[in-house]
Amino acid sequence: SPLPIAVASAQPVKVSFEFFPPKTEKMQETLWECVKRLEPLAPAFVSVTYGAGGTTRERTHDTVVRIARETSLKPAAHLTCVGHVQGEVDDIARRYWDEGIRHIVALRGDAPEGSGAYVPTPGGYGYAVDLVRGLKRIADFEISVAAYPEMHPDAPSAAFDLDNLKAKVDAGATRAISQYFFDPAVFLRFRERAVAAGITVPIVPGILPVTNFAQVQKFSAACGASVPGWMATLFEGLDNDPETRRLVAATVAAEQCRALAADGVSDFHFYTLNRADLAYAISHILGVRPRG
Ligand code: FAD
Repeated sequence: SPLPIAVASAQPVKVSFEFFPPKTEKMQETLWECVKRLEPLAPAFVSVTYGAGGTTRERTHDTVVRIARETSLKPAAHLTCVGHVQGEVDDIARRYWDEGIRHIVALRGDAPEGSGAYVPTPGGYGYAVDLVRGLKRIADFEISVAAYPEMHPDAPSAAFDLDNLKAKVDAGATRAISQYFFDPAVFLRFRERAVAAGITVPIVPGILPVTNFAQVQKFSAACGASVPGWMATLFEGLDNDPETRRLVAATVAAEQCRALAADGVSDFHFYTLNRADLAYAISHILGVRPRG
């Protein structure tokens, strides 16, 4: 009889991978190994994050352009509102367009660490929805935006947050990529609510294979992702055993994807943290095979 996973992914699966721009030569090498390893899987796109407050402006740009020039991949550039006046953001976007980059992941960004609540930069784009509008005025970019299955921590209510997602789509976004989550039911319920709210663009689950459980636990509170109790149990006693943690991480993420695929999810976005192995293995389990 067929493996349950094969049944679950009866529809063709499309994957995408997220990278962060490297800071050092060594990190540059690590990223490039990762890009080369994942390239044959022919992802729908790969994306490169934008450091808080524009700190990686050039590094994000250079990474995106290098991927476009030296690989067969279609890169998307993340761009945020923080710390820039509109003209600066527009210039960055125009430069991308002139270099043939057609896909932007449009985000608000966060206040610099320790500076309290988010406050729009005077003369800047206030929220992601404003950035989407601005980008669409510049050129006909393909635009992806962020979605929060467990609500963004700044949102006054889940309904407000969903209205905000709808506004981003109405402004021209054609894909939402979700914040990471661990319980598939959380994502599936959110997708249902989004559809009921008239959001018809694909909502792609963001998959974070967890290799450093302690760090994720710390980080999750701030970004509105809950960590189920069963995860703590799974990673119990593995603090000093990174090898076993990686194997457990692959199993957890593969099971999460299987459950999503069983409910008709066919697109998956992996937060790779510039490491290919887990994203590659899980893509393989989902039926994705190298091309060529
Ligand atoms: P928005 O969609 O603007 O929404 C943020 C919050 O503000 C929501 O709660 C919304 O309901 C509320 N809101 C919207 N409009 C208003 C208004 N007029 N008044 C009051 N509240 C309002 N960060 C980076 O710095 N760089 C990255 O590369 C990056 N990549 C990401 C990729 C993905 C897939 C995801 C999910 C997140 C990413 N982030 C990144 C994090 C993101 O910048 C933060 O989560 C940020 O806090 C919100 O960004 P947003 O685009 O979702 O904001």
